[in-house]
Amino acid sequence: MGTFHVTESGKTLVTLIPGDGIGPEVVDSAVRIIEATGAPIEWEERHAGERVFLEGQASGVRQDTIDSIRKTRVVMKGPLGTPVGYGEKSANVTLRKLFETYGNIRPAREYPGVKTPYSGRGIDLVVVRENVEDLYAGIEYMLTPGVAQGLKLISRKGTEKIVRLAFELARAEGRESVVAMSKANIMKMTEGTLKSVFEQVAPEYDDIESWHVIVDNAAHQLVKLPEQYSVLVTTNMNGDILSDLSSALIGGLGFAPSANIGNEVFIAEAVHGSAPKYAGRDVINPTAMILSGVMMLRHLGLFDEASLVENAVITTLEEGKVMTRDVVGDERQGGTIGYTNEIIKNLGRKPTAWTVREYAPIKLPQLGDAPDFVKVTSRQVCGVDIFIESASDKISIGQSLERICEGRDLYLKMVDSRGTMLYPPNDVMTDTVDAWRARFMLRDDAGELSDAQLIDLLQAVAAEHMWAHVEKLQRFEGEDGFTKAQGED
Ligand code: NAP
Repeated sequence: MGTFHVTESGKTLVTLIPGDGIGPEVVDSAVRIIEATGAPIEWEERHAGERVFLEGQASGVRQDTIDSIRKTRVVMKGPLGTPVGYGEKSANVTLRKLFETYGNIRPAREYPGVKTPYSGRGIDLVVVRENVEDLYAGIEYMLTPGVAQGLKLISRKGTEKIVRLAFELARAEGRESVVAMSKANIMKMTEGTLKSVFEQVAPEYDDIESWHVIVDNAAHQLVKLPEQYSVLVTTNMNGDILSDLSSALIGGLGFAPSANIGNEVFIAEAVHGSAPKYAGRDVINPTAMILSGVMMLRHLGLFDEASLVENAVITTLEEGKVMTRDVVGDERQGGTIGYTNEIIKNLGRKPTAWTVREYAPIKLPQLGDAPDFVKVTSRQVCGVDIFIESASDKISIGQSLERICEGRDLYLKMVDSRGTMLYPPNDVMTDTVDAWRARFMLRDDAGELSDAQLIDLLQAVAAEHMWAHVEKLQRFEGEDGFTKAQGED
C-alpha cells in the first residue's frame, strides 16, 4: 500500500467527494461524526458525477479529482449519479478502474433495533467482490444488427488477488470461514478460474475453513440460512447481485457500507445510489456512509476512532430514540441530521448487548506487476472460430463452409447458433438468429495453424459470408483453451 499524504498539521489528507442526490447529506453526516472523534484527518473536497458530466467531461470525473486521489490514496465518496443522456461509463466504475481497486468489500451485519425477518439470527457476513474484471469490463459489441455480445474477462492474476484478499480479510477480522461462490459448472474457464484458484490458495490458509458453492445455490442459501456464512468471495457480477441481496437481509441499503480496495488506493462508499427523490429532505439513513467511513478509519490504522464510531452507531440503534424513516416507517422520529447528532452524543458509549469485532490491518496480497503472470511451456494454435452473419439456413451455411475447406489443411468441425451445434445436421430443436459460429480445426491434430493459413481461410470465408469476429483456438500445456459447443463431441 502506498503511503498516505500527511499535511503540515500532521493529519492524513483524504479526498472527499460529496456526490449527487442524497450524497452530500450522508457524506456530511459521516464527516461530522469522524471529526467528532478527533481523528487526525483533513479533507480535500473534489467532485465527480452528475455535475461533471453536465460540464461536458465524458468520464464524469474531473482531472483535479484524479490528481487529488493520486496524492491522498484514500477517498470517502458519496453516491454518483449519471444524468440521462450522459456518460457512456459510470463515474463510479471509472474511479474503481482508474485506481485498480480490485476488491469490493461489502459487510452485511444484523443491527439492533432494525427489524427484519432475520432479526435475532446473528447475520454477520462480508461479501468480497472482484471489482474490475468480468462482464463489468464493459467490452460489448453488436455482432450483427440483432445479436449483442459482451466479453466476460477473468484473469488468473485478478482472481488470485481477490481470493487472497478474502482470506486476509478473514484473518484480519478473526473470521472462521471463506466460501467461494461461482458458476464454474457452466462457465468452466471464466468462473472456473475462481474455483480453481480458490482451491489452490485455500490450503495456504489452513487456519480458515473454506468451501465452494455454486452461485445459484449460494443465493438460495443466503436467503435460507445466511448465518452459515462469514466471508464470501466471488466474481464481479455475482458479487454485485449477492451483496445487494445480503444487505436486504439486514435492513436494506441504508445499512450497507462498502470499501473499494486496491494495493494503492482505497475508496469508502455506501452501496446505495444517489436516491434523488430523497435529496435535500433530511430523511435519508446515513448509516451506510458512516460505516463506510469506519472501514476507512481502520484502513488508515485509526482503529480506536473506528470502534468509537461503530459503538456509537450500534448504541444509537440499540436505544432507538432517534431513528430514520427507513427503519421506523415515518419521518417523525428523526431525520438524517437528528440521527447524526444522536450518534455524536453517543460517542464514547458502548452498546449493552452488542459487540464490535476486534480488527487488525488487512495484509494486502502482493503479486507483482508482471503482465505475464501465467507462463506456459507449450502452446499450440489448433483451429479457429469464425463468427459470421447470415440469414441463410444451417445446411446451406454448413455446406458452403465445407466447400471452402476442400483442398485446405482445415476441416469444418461444426457450426453453432448461440452455443448450440446445428451442423453437421442433427435433430436439435432450436431457434436460430443471424449470428453463427463456424469452428475450423487443423486436419493434423498435432499441427500448428499459421497466421497465413488463418488469413487465407478468412479471405475464402469472407468471399461468401459476412464475417464479424475471429477467435484463435489454442491449447496450453496440451489442454484445450476453449470450450465445446452444446452437442459438440
Ligand atoms: P438508489 O439510489 O440506491 O435508491 C434505491 C432505493 O433504495 C431508494 O429509493 C430507497 O428505497 C433505498 N435507499 C437508498 N439509499 C438509502 C438510504 N441511505 N437510506 C434509506 N434507503 C435508501 O438506487 P437507484 O434509484 O437505482 O439509483 C439512483 C442513482 O444512483 C442512479 O443514477 C444510479 O446510477 C446511481 N447509483 C450510484 C451508486 C454509487 O455511486 N455507488 C450506486 C448505485 C446507484 P425506498 O424508495 O424504498 O425508500
